[in-house]
Amino acid sequence: MYKTILLAYDGSEHARKAARLAGDEARTHGATVVVVYAYDAVPEWLGEPLFEEALSRRLVHAESIVDEARALVGEVASLEIEVLEGPPAETILRVAEVRQADLIVMGTRGLSGLAGMLLGSQSQKVVALSKCPVLLVK
Ligand code: ATP
Ligand code: MG
Repeated sequence: MYKTILLAYDGSEHARKAARLAGDEARTHGATVVVVYAYDAVPEWLGEPLFEEALSRRLVHAESIVDEARALVGEVASLEIEVLEGPPAETILRVAEVRQADLIVMGTRGLSGLAGMLLGSQSQKVVALSKCPVLLVK
């Protein structure tokens, strides 16, 4: 029985499938879904007002990404959102620890999708370092 399912969502096609699957698993297990989206840090050297503008653009975009994830997951007992600044894999792993996730669901590939790579670098890192099971969706 899963209690807390972490969905790592970047808006890619694989992540969309992962979101649907995370929703199905959560309904089966009565689990909470925690949606994680990590955005790139805004460089401080931009200075004001550019820093503030870039940050608010990132946050507006993040909002639309997580809205999409929420819709794809569908009705679940409980859904929480974590939008955090930082490198994706590290952020996903940190949230998984703090929230004591018992399953991480993510795509095999993401937005950048270099043709030669079999698995995205964030998926690779999470699979290698996670303490809980990871479900990679394709
Ligand atoms: P790479 O980023 O290594 O060039 P990629 O974009 O194809 O290649 P990943 O970034 O590893 O591959 O994406 C695999 C999965 O990781 C995505 O389907 C998504 O579930 C998750 N993911 C990627 N980036 C983020 C992010 N910024 N926030 C949350 N989850 C993410
Ligand atoms: Mg990526």
